[in-house]
Amino acid sequence: MQFRDLKTQYHHLKKEIDDGILAVLESSAFIMGKPVGELENNLAEFAGVKHCVGCANGTDALQLVLMAWGIGEGDAVFTSDFTYFASAGTSSIIGATPVFVDIDINTFNMCPENLELQIKRVLEEGKLTPKVIIPVDLFGQPADYDSIIPIAKKYGLKVLCDGAQGFGGSIRGKNVGSFGDASTTSFFPAKPLGCYGDGGAIFTNDDSMDETLRSLQCQGRSPQDKYDNRSIGMNSRLDTLQAAILIPKLKAFIEHEIDDVNRVANKYTEALKDYVITPSVKEGFVSSWAQYTIRLKDNEQRNALSLYLKERGIPNMVYYPRGLHAQTAYKERQLPDSMYPNTVKATQTVLSLPMHPYLTDEEINEVCKNIIEFIK
Ligand SMILES: *Cc1c(COP(=O)(O)O)cnc(C)c1O
Repeated sequence: MQFRDLKTQYHHLKKEIDDGILAVLESSAFIMGKPVGELENNLAEFAGVKHCVGCANGTDALQLVLMAWGIGEGDAVFTSDFTYFASAGTSSIIGATPVFVDIDINTFNMCPENLELQIKRVLEEGKLTPKVIIPVDLFGQPADYDSIIPIAKKYGLKVLCDGAQGFGGSIRGKNVGSFGDASTTSFFPAKPLGCYGDGGAIFTNDDSMDETLRSLQCQGRSPQDKYDNRSIGMNSRLDTLQAAILIPKLKAFIEHEIDDVNRVANKYTEALKDYVITPSVKEGFVSSWAQYTIRLKDNEQRNALSLYLKERGIPNMVYYPRGLHAQTAYKERQLPDSMYPNTVKATQTVLSLPMHPYLTDEEINEVCKNIIEFIK
């Protein structure tokens, strides 16, 4: 059994993917070839926004937006404490200070009450200027934008939605990619919509933002004269081969894969809900199930179950074993665990199970049977 079965997916889509790759090879237009623009249009249409800008990966996508907004030294960027490192790392690398926000233990996403508390704390301290909130759609569930966007408005902050895990999710029919002032995603192979290498994208409705991002991703070159660099940018393009691979993958993603992962999630929840804490998706929200993550009673039970499943050939992962506040890179800030009780609880008790659109009923039953045997 695979944790995320990329090979089965490839075999389902083999003809279209192979044809797309071969067409790029024949064209020899390897940099910014036709598939890049075609994919950007398809992605923008699906997300429901005016512009999509492809780039090299989901981390660069975040950094490009922060650079486009001129974020830097002395600015505070608020992000969830329980997530992949990218939203913190990109804030730090451009000179800003990431401020970590505790999570809602039920959704694993940024807690709006704690967000407002952290904003007030930063304002009271008076050392940093609050500028941006980066909510993360952890494990596929969109962040609580209903509560976060009004807080951003109240304090005059921009919202950059990290949809690396949430792409394909939605809130009352509005898709991830269309929330906040800008959104990003990642096409790392294991993400809900993955390519066969690295890739990422940025979504925005703002015309001038689209122009700025396209300049920043090409060394800050001016749109009129490509040998005049008007600002300092990056070299971060979406690879043409990856775009060609993503075109048929996006089609399958929209046509059935989002439904398929939701079918898998419902089966897991139905079978496991009396034995472990199953993930809860908010009313009106649809998750794209980047991970199906259960919670156990305590750290000891979690570690024992992880081992028990591994011994029986069932892959499982701990996402994430520590909060951002506890990362060595931020050690000198001495942020205590007591500031982040829900993150700490999650790090000790979560376990992610095999999840992908091609998981069979037999595989789902095998996972559930073993968990139930263990708990009993
Ligand atoms: C994977 C991921 C990223 C970064 O994406 P890359 O393409 O690997 O750079 C950013 N944020 C979150 C939440 C992620 O899961």
